[in-house]
Amino acid sequence: MNRLAERLRARIAAEGPIGVDDYMAAANAHYYATRDPLGAAGDFITAPEISQMFGEMIGGALADCWLRAGAPADAVFAELGPGRGTLVADALRVMRGGGFGGEVHLIETSSTLRAAQAALVGDATWHDSISALPERPLLLVANEFLDALPVKQFVGDVERKVTVNDGAFAFSAEGEIQEKSPAREAAVSDLARQLAANGGAALIIDYGYRASGPGDTLQAVQRHGFADVLADPGEQDVTVHVDFAAVTRAARDGGAAVSPLVSQGTWLERLGISARAMALAARSPARTEDIAAARRRLCDGGEMGELFKVIAIHSPAWPEPAGFRT
Ligand code: SAH
Repeated sequence: MNRLAERLRARIAAEGPIGVDDYMAAANAHYYATRDPLGAAGDFITAPEISQMFGEMIGGALADCWLRAGAPADAVFAELGPGRGTLVADALRVMRGGGFGGEVHLIETSSTLRAAQAALVGDATWHDSISALPERPLLLVANEFLDALPVKQFVGDVERKVTVNDGAFAFSAEGEIQEKSPAREAAVSDLARQLAANGGAALIIDYGYRASGPGDTLQAVQRHGFADVLADPGEQDVTVHVDFAAVTRAARDGGAAVSPLVSQGTWLERLGISARAMALAARSPARTEDIAAARRRLCDGGEMGELFKVIAIHSPAWPEPAGFRT
């Protein structure tokens, strides 16, 4: 059994069963600190790793919003959980082209991934938490960040916990499950408070659902396939689907304005990903089929286009970013 699993078993023996959120926090802190999980050789692949077009659309949307807000010179670009740094690099190329000259601030707890980001992005400042961001207008993006933040689970009024039965991790209760993520709600309201106080806009992209309701969405992924959440803590990516209704409430409670929620496919098409795909293909005709396949993977309903959703949280004094309304 792995070392984190041994530590968790000792903790449960000493303290009793632990919350699903504590289990998830411990598992993910170890997981991200000890590897680069992305790509073919890792456990999963994300939208910015599929195509440069993803980050370019985000950079275009943020630059456009910044220009419409009067192009404040003190605005900074920020990302939550930047992974390998691919999205920052692609988005900034577009934003620099649009005249944005601001600093880059990255929220990342994994030193392994900070090193990967530094290699790709160069000049940036790293922080451990959203509250450490500078008090300035933010142009922020978070892709597949909120799904990694810990959730609590409840069966009726009873919190579902992780315990040890016959030497193996087990859940303390089964039944109709309700999920609640105090950590995610705190992160979103922190962000909303900063946007309301200092200006700016945030694009949040993740898999999730529109309306709060019962359901167990806890999942583990290892080597591009689903795994048992309790099997190998710290050696697999443990995530949940994001409750976007709860995100919207937390953002409004923090004083920010919130856009409608749209599917990733619809949003990318509205921002012009098809035209971008054609322009890229015209420049590299040999890659035409690869570029078309990447666009389909990002946008089609059967691929990432419907499951993944996008929402903007912004200062009430700033315009809503493009792509959220017809
Ligand atoms: N956005 C990237 C990576 C997604 S993986 C992409 O789309 O490819 C999740 C990222 O969030 C990793 O960079 C991970 O190290 C980071 N992360 C997870 N939990 C975190 C936390 N509590 N605080 C800061 N970063 C965290």
